[in-house]
Amino acid sequence: MIGTGYRKLAEELSLSIKNNVAYGIIQDYMTTLSEGIGYKDIYISACIYDETKDIIEKSLSETETKKKYRITEYQITDKSVYIKFFDNPGTMKCIKEFVEWFYPFLKQAGALGKSYCTECKQTLNKSVCKFINNKAVLLHEYCAEKIAEGIKEQIKNNNEKSNLLKGFLGSLLGGVIGAIPWAIVYSFGWFVGWLGLLIGFLAQKGYYLFGGKSKKATIAILSAAIIIAVIFAQILGDCVTLGRYIINGEITEFAIKDIPYIIYSLFISDKSYVADFIQNVLYGLVFAALGAYQILKKVSKRVTEENPNIKDEPQDI
Ligand SMILES: [Zn+2]
Repeated sequence: MIGTGYRKLAEELSLSIKNNVAYGIIQDYMTTLSEGIGYKDIYISACIYDETKDIIEKSLSETETKKKYRITEYQITDKSVYIKFFDNPGTMKCIKEFVEWFYPFLKQAGALGKSYCTECKQTLNKSVCKFINNKAVLLHEYCAEKIAEGIKEQIKNNNEKSNLLKGFLGSLLGGVIGAIPWAIVYSFGWFVGWLGLLIGFLAQKGYYLFGGKSKKATIAILSAAIIIAVIFAQILGDCVTLGRYIINGEITEFAIKDIPYIIYSLFISDKSYVADFIQNVLYGLVFAALGAYQILKKVSKRVTEENPNIKDEPQDI
């Protein structure tokens, strides 16, 4: 989506508007302008060596710079500078001032522009314009092919089924570890539902540690692992509680080894026990869902990050 502000700027700077972005050369650098709810951004494709990176980093990290141009976020890699602006009335003026200041600054700092391939850092005699994740870049034809191959490989790896199984085991392990504090806190008779947050958090950590990839199935896998872990946490909590009673001598007719039997008996014969059990599990799931909401956001972000794409420059029809 490109609004009137960016449309006007694109016209002033002779940029093209296609695929919901404005792109073209601004002062020697291939640039892509795009916007979303509450922000506008600038993606500058350039070859950036470490020294140059330090200079840019130093300048962009200054509070005064951020405030002056309404910069909320920025990212510098060896291939690009990405700047995100907070969007409200007056932001276009800030962006114009930013462009006037930043591009000559970039040049001075030693960033290499349109005559260089961002992939291999060599000079470009004949370049192709490609859209990588909808950002315009100039490359050698063969470098573009190499990137396309790499992306294909990455997507293939992301789709491997074994990753999902490993991810499930990882999230289950994380959830089970998260169940331990739950069980201990519960055995003291305290409210434990909020520890569902920890279970949710550790389950997603485990998922990624075991090589689980971000994809749509992640949500289902994490949900299953979290539900199992919360139920496990509650059962473990009852085990620990009963264990304490037996050790303290408050229950004398049973021994530690009888705990599974006691819990089984409670399940089939004590309705109030089952009601409490379900209530605790539900509270836990509500909190785990709260934790998982953050995870969900992260997953959807990671899905876009981890499923890159490279396309030809859009053509006029
Ligand atoms: Zn190249």
